[in-house]
Amino acid sequence: MPSARSWRAYPQTYRLEASRCSGCQKTFFPPRQVCNACSGREFETFRMGYGGTVVTHTVIRTPGDQFQGEAPFAVGIIAMDDGPKMTTQIVDVPLEEIRIGMKVKLEFRRMYAEGHDGVIEYGHKAVPLRE
Ligand SMILES: [Zn+2]
Repeated sequence: MPSARSWRAYPQTYRLEASRCSGCQKTFFPPRQVCNACSGREFETFRMGYGGTVVTHTVIRTPGDQFQGEAPFAVGIIAMDDGPKMTTQIVDVPLEEIRIGMKVKLEFRRMYAEGHDGVIEYGHKAVPLRE
């Protein structure tokens, strides 16, 4: 899971900006400098859609300090409809109802209130797509 520092350092993360290799069309999120499939160095930036599918998930019961008070919660790998995979928290669904193959969409949510200065971090979380 990206740290709060990396969210701040890479504002494209907020906008879900991914890169697509001009050589082989493989997509990356976060964007890369060199394609790991064809070693290409030319990319076009595009903004991913919010839809995806749960590939796998796990329930965190003893989280690190910044997530104290939120456990247990689910973290999953989401295969975005646009190709890249993301690791993110899965919310708004009972933990036992999370399924592989479940359709989700990303929403911008509060992540946690950071220790001393009380800074509230925001990031994307996956919520179930309800028909
Ligand atoms: Zn490539």
